[in-house]
Amino acid sequence: MLLEESTINNSAKVHETAPWGETMPAVVQSVAYSYESAAELEAVFAGLQSGYNYTRVGNPTTTALEERLKRLDGARGAVATASGMAAIASVATALLEQGDHVVAARGMFAGTVSIFEDTFARFGVTTTFVEAGDTDAVTGAIQENTRMVFLEIMGNPKLDVPDLKAIAKVTNAQRIPLVVDNTLMTPAILRPGDLGVDVVVYSTSKYIHGHGTAIGGAIVDTGIYDWTSGPFEPIRAWVDEYREDSFLAHLRNSVCRNLGGCPAPWNSFLTVQGLQTLSLRMQRHCDNARQLARWLRDHPDVAWINYPGLADHTYHQRVIDQFGGNGGALMTFGLGTRDRAFRFVDRAQLAKQAANLGDVHTLVIHPGSTIFHSYGPEDRQAMGVTDDMIRVSVGLEPFADLQADFAQALKQIHI
Ligand SMILES: *Cc1c(COP(=O)(O)O)cnc(C)c1O
Repeated sequence: MLLEESTINNSAKVHETAPWGETMPAVVQSVAYSYESAAELEAVFAGLQSGYNYTRVGNPTTTALEERLKRLDGARGAVATASGMAAIASVATALLEQGDHVVAARGMFAGTVSIFEDTFARFGVTTTFVEAGDTDAVTGAIQENTRMVFLEIMGNPKLDVPDLKAIAKVTNAQRIPLVVDNTLMTPAILRPGDLGVDVVVYSTSKYIHGHGTAIGGAIVDTGIYDWTSGPFEPIRAWVDEYREDSFLAHLRNSVCRNLGGCPAPWNSFLTVQGLQTLSLRMQRHCDNARQLARWLRDHPDVAWINYPGLADHTYHQRVIDQFGGNGGALMTFGLGTRDRAFRFVDRAQLAKQAANLGDVHTLVIHPGSTIFHSYGPEDRQAMGVTDDMIRVSVGLEPFADLQADFAQALKQIHI
């Protein structure tokens, strides 16, 4: 795993006041902050004195989370949000305006496809969806008015793996922000900034928190993009005061403040707690997934399996190059028919059926009838969602228990 520092004691280097020597950030469950004098609050509002004025814009517990996220990604800074979708909506709002164009991956999280296809389309932003694994398709779709390339690493549920370094080479040269959703790999496996990615977004609801009890998101500025010049006027407006931090200032003081998707302090605390074991959990998630994928691949009832950690997968070389061989913990497999897939999900006991991933528990779902229910058969096919497909988010259970559960459920798919 890349980041030993993400394990256990990741609070050591964070600047925090700890008046009682507490080892965890305090939960400052307060909406506003009072000051002795009007002059002081004026200075806080003007950014001349450090401090908080209102939790929608900033909160000490959330700052503690943001500091950790920034360090984990080796980045310039991070802004935490209420959810992964709030992070994506905020980045898109910060970068795009009417008439702009986006290049985005086709096989992405359904909510992210929809935000471009439905929400931002209504504000005059056009999007070209491409196969993210095909570098030429991604870079070839760039137009004169392209203001963002948005990819997932990896695609959920397609599990395609873009070659970030090759794509970043082109987007960096053309000065188009490359935004990557790193929810599935996390900074424990990949720091996208190391490959030239400009902005990273996370749904911390998944592995970063890891326990399925706090929804959250984050935006990370890796520090690669020079916001002091370039075509983003609303960001350049912050340059005099914030220099290279202008994108973060624009996000925090304008976009996130106005859209209102701030995290609850308690969720920031829970996310910090989860982060402490991130690299340990990711190692175990990946190890369990590798074993389960090999076992499923050899099972006679399994028609096909898609897991980039397997040596014969189309993108396995990229898994080696970009993730040090860790294939993540999400996989899909097929049982030939929709009926069998339903029976498998119904009979699995240890593996719970849920529309989440990145949890300590193994979760299974039939994406075609749930997450992708609003799409027609052809669109689902293009997104890599077949009728017989089951998605597995592999948890942290002892592998033998997991294998036994899958074996008993598979035994019953014909009955
Ligand atoms: C879940 C998810 C999101 C959305 O995050 P929420 O926290 O549910 O809003 C975005 N991208 C990916 C890859 C996800 O898995």
